[in-house]
Amino acid sequence: MTASTAVVLLTRDLRVHDHPALASTCAAFDQVVPLYVLDPALAGRSANRTRFLHQALADLRAQLRDLGGDLVVRHGDPVTETIRLAAEVDATAVALSADVSHYASRRERRLRAECERHRLHLRLFPGLTVVEPGALRPGGGGDHYRVFSPYHRAWAVHRWREELAAPRRIALPARVRVGQLPAPPAGDSPEAAVGGERVARQRLTDWLPELTRYGDQHDDMAGDDTSRLSPYLRFGCVSPLAVANRAGDRSGPFVRQLCWRDFYYQVTAAFPEISTTAYRRGATERWRYDDDALAAWTEGRTGMPIVDAGMRQLRTQGWMHNRARLITAGYLTTHLGQDWRSGVAVFFRWLLDGDVANNSGNWQWVAGTGNDTKPYRGFNLVRQAERYDPAGDYVRRWVPELAGVQGRAVHQPWKLPDQLRRAVDYPPPLSVPGTDPVWLR
Ligand SMILES: Cc1cc2nc3c(=O)[nH]c(=O)nc-3n(C[C@H](O)[C@H](O)[C@H](O)COP(=O)(O)OP(=O)(O)OC[C@H]3O[C@@H](n4cnc5c(N)ncnc54)[C@H](O)[C@@H]3O)c2cc1C
Repeated sequence: MTASTAVVLLTRDLRVHDHPALASTCAAFDQVVPLYVLDPALAGRSANRTRFLHQALADLRAQLRDLGGDLVVRHGDPVTETIRLAAEVDATAVALSADVSHYASRRERRLRAECERHRLHLRLFPGLTVVEPGALRPGGGGDHYRVFSPYHRAWAVHRWREELAAPRRIALPARVRVGQLPAPPAGDSPEAAVGGERVARQRLTDWLPELTRYGDQHDDMAGDDTSRLSPYLRFGCVSPLAVANRAGDRSGPFVRQLCWRDFYYQVTAAFPEISTTAYRRGATERWRYDDDALAAWTEGRTGMPIVDAGMRQLRTQGWMHNRARLITAGYLTTHLGQDWRSGVAVFFRWLLDGDVANNSGNWQWVAGTGNDTKPYRGFNLVRQAERYDPAGDYVRRWVPELAGVQGRAVHQPWKLPDQLRRAVDYPPPLSVPGTDPVWLR
C-alpha cells in the first residue's frame, strides 16, 4: 500500500506545540510535509518583522528536524508553490490555519479553488486565536461583536478547544527537496527581540511569576513588566490558547488582554477593510495632512517628551509599551489631528508584532472611528504622562537629552527655568495652528 501524504502550509503559525493543523495532519497521514513559502507580496513591509520571521523559521526547521521531519522552504506565490509541492510528493490533502486579513482570506479562496481543480482535499484549522473568529455571536443578532465587554463575558465562559501536544514524530517523503532558508536579513531596530518558538516558550516561563503583579503593574511604563509576548503571538511562535491556559484565571487582567486580541480578529473577519475604512458608521473624519508634523512624530522629535520617548522606543526595539502606544496614537490623531491611517503605516513599518487586526483595530479605537463606545474621549497629555510615568524614568530612558532633568519636571521641559531650559538640547512643543492644548498652559 502506498503511504498517504499531506502538505501543511504554514503562514503565521510557526510552532510545533498546540498546532491543530500540524497535529491533526500528523495523526491522519503517514507522511507530512510542513511548507513555508516566502511570498514576495509580503516582503519589504517591515525589515524588523522580516528578520523576526526568518529567525522563527530557522527555529521551526530545527524543531521539525528534531522530530524527524523538516521545513520545506519555497519562494513565490504560496498557492502555486503549494500545488506544485503537493504534486511532487503525491499528496492528497493540504492543511492550513485559518486567518482573517484581507490578504489571508484571498489567499485561502485561491488555494481552495486550486485544490479543487487538482483534486486535493483542503482542510482549515483553528489556532491563531483562543476562540475562533465567528464562534461567538451576539444575542441580539449580527455576525460579530462590535463591543468588547459583552464579547469578553461570552469568551470567558465559552468552551475552549483542547490544547494539543507537539507531534511525536514527523515522517517526510523520501527525496523531497527541502530548500534553502536565507540567513536572517538585517532589521531596523538594534534592540529587537529574537524570533522563534523556543525563545517564546522560555519567555512565557520566565514571565509567568510576574502574572500576579500584572493587574497593578501593566500600566507602569518605566516598570516594563508586561509579557512582551506580542511578536511571538503575531507569528504564532506560541499558541494564544497555551498562553491563556498557563495564565489560568480567564477573567483576570492578563487573559483579558488576550481576549482583546481575539476581539479584533473577529472584528477583522467581519470587516476586512479595517486598515483603510472607518469601522463605525457615521464616524467623523476630517483629518489634517502635515508631512512635517508627521515626520516629527515618527522620528520622536515633537517636543512632547512622553510622545518622543514612545516613538524612540518603537524605533529602537521594534516594540512599544501599550500605554505609550495609546499616548502616541492619541497625540497624533486627537492633538495633531492627523489621519489614523498614517499612524497605522508608521507602526506597521516598525512593530515586530504589527498585524492588521490589532494595529488597525487599536488605531481606530484611539481615533474614535472604531469599537470604542465613547469615541472622542478627552485627552490631556501631561496628565497621562504624570499618571503612567510618575517619576519620569521612562522619558529619561528614551530621551537622553532630558536625562539631567529631575522628577516629573521632565514631562514639561517648556516650564523649566530659563537657564536650565537653554542647557537642554530639546525642541519646544510642536505647535498646531488653531489648537490650544490645555497641557501647555
Ligand atoms: C495604537 C495601537 C496599536 C497597536 N498595535 C498592535 C499590533 O500591531 N499588534 C499587537 O499585537 N498589538 C497591538 N497593540 C496592542 C498592545 O499595545 C500590544 O499587544 C501590547 O503592548 C504588547 O505587549 P505585551 O505582549 O507585553 O502585552 P501584554 O500586556 O503582556 O498582553 C498580553 C497579550 O495580549 C494581547 N494584547 C494586549 N493588549 C492588547 C490590545 N489592546 N489589543 C489587542 N491585543 C492586545 C497581545 O497579544 C499581548 O501580547 C496596539 C495598541 C495600540 C494602542
